[in-house]
Amino acid sequence: MEKREKLYEGKAKIVYATDNPDLVIQYFKDDATAFNAAKKGTVDEKGIMNNKISGRIFEFLQSQGLPTHFEKTLSEREMLIKKVQIVPVEVIIRNRAAGSLSRLLGIPEGTQLKSTVLEFCYKRDDLGDPLINDSHIKALGLATEEEVKAIKELTLKVNELLSKFFLKLNLELIDFKLEFGRYKGKIILADEISPDTCRLWEVGTGKKLDKDRFRHDLGNIKEAYQEVMQRVTA
Ligand code: C5P
Repeated sequence: MEKREKLYEGKAKIVYATDNPDLVIQYFKDDATAFNAAKKGTVDEKGIMNNKISGRIFEFLQSQGLPTHFEKTLSEREMLIKKVQIVPVEVIIRNRAAGSLSRLLGIPEGTQLKSTVLEFCYKRDDLGDPLINDSHIKALGLATEEEVKAIKELTLKVNELLSKFFLKLNLELIDFKLEFGRYKGKIILADEISPDTCRLWEVGTGKKLDKDRFRHDLGNIKEAYQEVMQRVTA
């Protein structure tokens, strides 16, 4: 397998072509952004840690029968993934109120929700990734109704599996964001699953072990990611 030209560079990752048209390489950077890139910085070795954490989580989800883009880990910062067409919708699951939901609805952070909240955001940096619903997705032609159904089912299954997975590691999955892609006519899980895309609070202490440490300048960011990596890969 040969690494070829850069296809795309995002805020935290770069995608490279390979000599196989169905596969690409996802490279994890140390760059961190928050609040629609209004806050920028770097976290030493974040890319290495997120590559390890995401790889392990994708392996786990695949072992449970969920389709993901993950093929294999190639190096410290690179994984081989299936080349998908990304659905331009971010899917967020919330088990407890935090972040933008707390701000939007005036609910204190940490409030237990009576049922799981599933949100969609339109992937548009220039608009600040606005909150949208199923009818917007249909009206804009971002995904078909069948695709939205598959995305919702997969997302709820991921929540069920990962909530248990993290709880065994003494971490509570507060919320997370997923992205999906089309591959050979099917919807599969794409992007990454890491402390950049999940809120993880330590059970008992409530200590935040995720990107909120960067967003809100809480300190010990690298240590928090290391803590998650050690637990996830133990
Ligand atoms: O900021 P907000 O509360 O909406 O984030 C909800 C969850 O989705 C958090 O775990 C956050 O890390 C993740 N997220 C993300 N990428 C975005 C927006 C949110 O990973 N663009």
